[in-house]
Amino acid sequence: MIEVKDMKDSKVTGSLVFNNPSFANHEQIVFCHDKDTGLKAIIAIHDTTLGSALGGTRMWVYKTEEEALNDVLRLSRGMTYKAAISGLQLGGGKAVIFGDSKKDKTAAMFIKYGEFIESLNGKYITAEDVGTSTSDMVNVRKSTKHVAGLPEEIGGGGDPSPVTAYGVYMGMKAAAKKFWGNDSLSGKKIAIQGVGHVGENLVRLVTQEKAKVYVTDISQDQLKVIADKYGAEIVSPDAIYDVPSDIYAPCALGATLNTENIQRLKCSVISGAANNQLADENVHGRMLADKGILYAPDFLINAGGLINVFSELKGYNRKDALSHTEKIFDTTIEIFDKAEREKLTTVEAAKRIAEERIAAARKK
Ligand code: NAD
Repeated sequence: MIEVKDMKDSKVTGSLVFNNPSFANHEQIVFCHDKDTGLKAIIAIHDTTLGSALGGTRMWVYKTEEEALNDVLRLSRGMTYKAAISGLQLGGGKAVIFGDSKKDKTAAMFIKYGEFIESLNGKYITAEDVGTSTSDMVNVRKSTKHVAGLPEEIGGGGDPSPVTAYGVYMGMKAAAKKFWGNDSLSGKKIAIQGVGHVGENLVRLVTQEKAKVYVTDISQDQLKVIADKYGAEIVSPDAIYDVPSDIYAPCALGATLNTENIQRLKCSVISGAANNQLADENVHGRMLADKGILYAPDFLINAGGLINVFSELKGYNRKDALSHTEKIFDTTIEIFDKAEREKLTTVEAAKRIAEERIAAARKK
């Protein structure tokens, strides 16, 4: 737990935020607290050059405040890249609420949280993320209009996960095309970590194409349901890194790929939904390239959910959201080609394109 005993102690406050390696020139960070509802949240706004910062709200049991701050800063910066690479007029932001989403949620907490968002006058727009749902967003909507990811009955796009999974599937097919010269996933061995909202939809899409699927999850009940429903083979959570596969799809939480388990991987392609899959994108992006593994950058291929909620802001249209998401295939190929041409990792190539777009908008 971080203790800031004296605000004059700039060394302590400086190390918490401005010198934090994840700070990355964030524009604004808002700490929200409400004693009555127990709300403790952090809203991070990374960059609003291209538009309002849109990013979901995660509810999670963080072990320390530092862990929560790091998470929100990393996720928020990722949203800037995600919006820019996807051609959306949106900036990057994200929020976290401290707590156990199964026990600690109340309607009053989310209504209060909406008031904090409202006070930002549209600079930040929220939606659901891990631990929050469309029904939580209905409560947020009671105190602010700056919220997306609402149920279809009230004009929203509903759960964005199927669209996210569709984008990941497009990125996966693009990677297959680049690696094997053919985008078919038929007969490919695909190992999927995490079979929650996005993971399950991805299992559905790839089994429809007759891939051989291996699944793992820390929730044993969920794992069994999905394995039975789609005829997938169950693997234990730690063993997923050792499964000989063609494609590995991390669809659980972030920072799961590190120096130790990358050495264990026996796949040719990585293409999954989780945000910030690489513990250190510079170190591990290079490690994967050196190992000959083609890595489809997460913030590029998991943008379907963002595209879906963006569509809500203009009057939701599922067909448009899906056809925009389909473009992830072409953008992924473009990035693989750029990486090859300019001897960059795929993460570096994707970030360069995103940064160029933001820089061009700044000049206007
Ligand atoms: P979810 O909570 O529905 O599913 C995550 C699943 O991963 C859960 O079933 C959980 O039990 C499992 N899990 C957690 N840690 C694990 C581990 N160490 N090993 C195996 N399984 C583990 O979340 P989701 O909405 O499916 O999102 C999955 C990932 O994709 C998250 O990182 C999220 O940020 C990212 N993402 C989601 C969307 C979306 O539209 N839902 C959009 C973009 C990115």
